[in-house]
Amino acid sequence: MRAEVIAVGTELLIGQLLDTNSQWLGEQLTLQGLDINFHTTVGDNVGKISNAMRAALARSDFVIVCGGLGPTHDDLTRDAIAAVKNVRLVPDNEIEKLIGDLFAFRGLEMPPANLSQALVPEGCEAILMTRGTAPGLICPVGLKYLFALPGVPHEMKEMALRAVFPKISEVLDERGERAVIESFTIKTWGLSESKVAEMLSGVIAELEANHEATIALLASAVEGIRVRITAKSASSAEVQSVLGKYRQKVEEILGDSVFGFNSDTIESVVGRILAERSLTLGLAESLTGGMVSSRITSVPGASEYFKGCVVSYATEVKRSVIGVTAPLVVSELAASEMAHGVRERLGCDIGLSLTGVAGPESQEGVAPGVVHLAISGPGSSKASRELKLPGDRDRVRELAATSALDLLRKHLLQGA
Ligand code: AMP
Ligand code: MG
Repeated sequence: MRAEVIAVGTELLIGQLLDTNSQWLGEQLTLQGLDINFHTTVGDNVGKISNAMRAALARSDFVIVCGGLGPTHDDLTRDAIAAVKNVRLVPDNEIEKLIGDLFAFRGLEMPPANLSQALVPEGCEAILMTRGTAPGLICPVGLKYLFALPGVPHEMKEMALRAVFPKISEVLDERGERAVIESFTIKTWGLSESKVAEMLSGVIAELEANHEATIALLASAVEGIRVRITAKSASSAEVQSVLGKYRQKVEEILGDSVFGFNSDTIESVVGRILAERSLTLGLAESLTGGMVSSRITSVPGASEYFKGCVVSYATEVKRSVIGVTAPLVVSELAASEMAHGVRERLGCDIGLSLTGVAGPESQEGVAPGVVHLAISGPGSSKASRELKLPGDRDRVRELAATSALDLLRKHLLQGA
């Protein structure tokens, strides 16, 4: 069955407030096994809100409206529902008393405007409030349902969990429409979005033909390209079997560009490999100034394998603390000396280094975006890589950090 969300509020339209309610509702409704059809944002205007509701009810079985249930003149969700259902708004004694009690409890007099919150469109059921002054509404419209929830996020969530999702669940069971929707995410680094799309074109075509699952590519600067596979079926076991089949196909095609799944990060994956093999790591960071170390130490349990970092930013520190002799400090030789030097000085199994030009200016004739990475160890193994990274200073530094972690991951997986 299909669901959609309508967020009401002019503040959302003009970008004054981020619509986090729709995000949360989208996530939760998907967990309920519903297909999310549309998200609409509409300003505080009764005609526009009721039009949005009519359009949503024409397309979807469940419509959740959030916002516009406050006591002021621009809170118009109740009026819009009354217009859509062509019914009157009727005062509800129980809600009037609840609102009155809330004010009395705080020792305040209730402004008459709050009485508008006790108005319920005929044929609708109120969801009593436990946190604020706005009740929610459950409104049957033919065989469909329109739910209204307050805009305040914690009030909205509490009411959705207590009254809306259980109601939806009941309807799904009554109509024998319960379904399970689950996703699996495969995370890659080092490939462009279009390259991933090209490599997966066969799988994408197969899924377009057989509708067993859907596949989506999501690009994120520091996380690389993610491939999300989503399947829907009557049972979780069936969904998992479809997801498993396509996960295997995607992994086979993308090979070692795949660094992890779902909530994995490159740093958590690298940490897992180091811990499994009882290896210790030390870092010498120049242009990233400790970003790689920060990401490594963000993983719980990093103390098991991470020894420390020398932020050898200035040339004299590279020379005096790490022992760099290379004439050019942004060069393959300098990176190798940094990796080797920090490994020896911190007494670890592996040294990883980064040196480069973050920009915006060139340095010693080297262009912004040029970065050298090097690894020394474990044992006599080593690796190095020259990168030419696009973007501004922040982006160059972020991409360099992720690339260094990925180089280490591949180095360890390739049997070093
Ligand atoms: P309302 O029910 O429209 O009076 O909204 C009450 C408050 O909830 C607003 O002032 C916002 O701070 C917040 N709010 C409303 N809609 C949203 C939304 N979609 N996402 C996050 N916060 C919201
Ligand atoms: Mg509002």
